[in-house]
Parts: sequence; C-alpha cells; structure tokens
Amino acid sequence: MKEQRFAEIFDKPAAAVIIQGDLLYGHTNRLQIQMYEHRGEKPVLLQPDEWWWTNTKVLEEEASKRGWVLKYPPIKKAGLHYRYIYHHPADETEAQPASYSPHTEYRERKQREAAIEQVARQVEGEAPITSFSGSWIALSNFALSPVQLDGVTYDCVEKAYQAAKTTDPKQREAIRMAQTAGQAKRMGAKLTLRPDWEAQKGYIMGALLRQKFAAGSAMANQLLRTGAAVLIEGNNWHDNYWGSCNCDACRRKHPNGGQNVLGRLLMKIRSELTTKH
Ligand SMILES: [Zn+2]
Repeated sequence: MKEQRFAEIFDKPAAAVIIQGDLLYGHTNRLQIQMYEHRGEKPVLLQPDEWWWTNTKVLEEEASKRGWVLKYPPIKKAGLHYRYIYHHPADETEAQPASYSPHTEYRERKQREAAIEQVARQVEGEAPITSFSGSWIALSNFALSPVQLDGVTYDCVEKAYQAAKTTDPKQREAIRMAQTAGQAKRMGAKLTLRPDWEAQKGYIMGALLRQKFAAGSAMANQLLRTGAAVLIEGNNWHDNYWGSCNCDACRRKHPNGGQNVLGRLLMKIRSELTTKH
C-alpha cells in the first residue's frame, strides 16, 4: 500500500479513523485492511471495492507521523483480526470558536467521545463494557475466584492484592480473613505500604489476574465471552487509575476518562488467551 493512500485518510479531519485488518496467513505483520473515516455520523468505508495491504509497523508509523494516536490499544479478536481506532489530539486543542465557553467545549468534547464510542459499536456491533457488575461481575476483582499469593490462597483477587501491599504475615492474614472483599479493600487502604509497592503493584495485579483467568478456566471463558468489546471499569468511587469514574467532577478533570489500567490489563489477558488457542 502506497503512502499516498494513508495521506488520503490521515490528512483529512475526522473524529476518528478506524482500521480493521486481518493478518495475512503466514506473516507476522502483514495486514489486509479496510479503512473507515468518521465525521460524526456513520463511519464511512473508504475503499468498498478493494482491500489495501500494509504491515502493522508502516500503519503505526504513518499514523503517528501525522499526529494520530490510538484511542485504545489495538484490539485483537479471535484469530487474526485486528481493530485500530485512531483519534487526533489536535482535535482537542483546535482554535476556539467565537462562541467558546468552557461549558460548550466540555459538551462538544463529550459528544465527540460519545461519537467515537458509537463507531466502535457500529463497526463491531459490540458495545464497550463499562461496568464490571451484573452479567459482567466475573471481570470484577471482587468476584469469588481463588488465587494464590506467596503460597497462600485468597478467595478473590481483591483480597490477595490488598494483602500484597504489606509483607507482615499477621496483616496479610487479617486481610485474607476479612468478611468481604470491600472490607479487605478498606483494610488495605490503612496499611503502611511496603517500600517497593508503587513499582510492584502493576506486576502483582497482572500476575493475580493471570491466575484468575488461566486458560481453560471458567473465568477465562467469562473473559472470552466479552468478544472484542472494550473493557472499562466504570465506577462512582473516583478511581481513575484502575478504572474510570463517572461522576461529574472526575469527568471534568479527566475528559478522556480514567487510565483504566484494570480494563487494559483484562483486554491484554484476553488477547493472550485468544492467541494461545
Ligand atoms: Zn469521581
């Protein structure tokens, strides 16, 4: 695929660019792709009569050269199917219209984000999962699912994670024996953190989640049941690190949503599960 073709799409203003691709059999990075552009209504397929060919590296280079960034990490579906959704940060900092007010800016940004979410739905027919409750409770760290930390079994990821904040065996045991995961979380919040905690916590969470969603387990099947949906731990407890809080104050402070580290980890583990098939 010629660079010219990327120019056709990446040089035009659009709310989002969606690229769907299938890895070419026998190649690690050659993609057969379809490109859509999105200007606020329906996403438009740019080349209805042909497939374009590229490789993942060129695609990423051409996008980033023009300032487009991935809205989500590339989502790999079962098999060899990928979806990339790009958005342009310049969109956020464009010259302000005469009628500018922080209020309209906020509203417009929300509308644009909603439009991008909508694209994901229209293209994949799949809504993002924004609450780890109800039929998606398995995705929550509070879900009962035994995991081990240093040879000791905890009945859910939350308890093991909170216990990992300390190296004191007595405090760990108290957290393990907590009546509920919520109680364990409150106990964890009062602990004196081990000195290496900030450096270790992401790795520890990942390791616990990989135990919980071990290939072939019931929990892994629950995770795979989410298909290619974007996973976001929406919450109302102001957690914009592991998830994304939906309260007005947090939305103003984090207009693009929280860091959603838990959701991203789950999507990463999901893609590991599909490649292991
Ligand atoms: Zn909040």
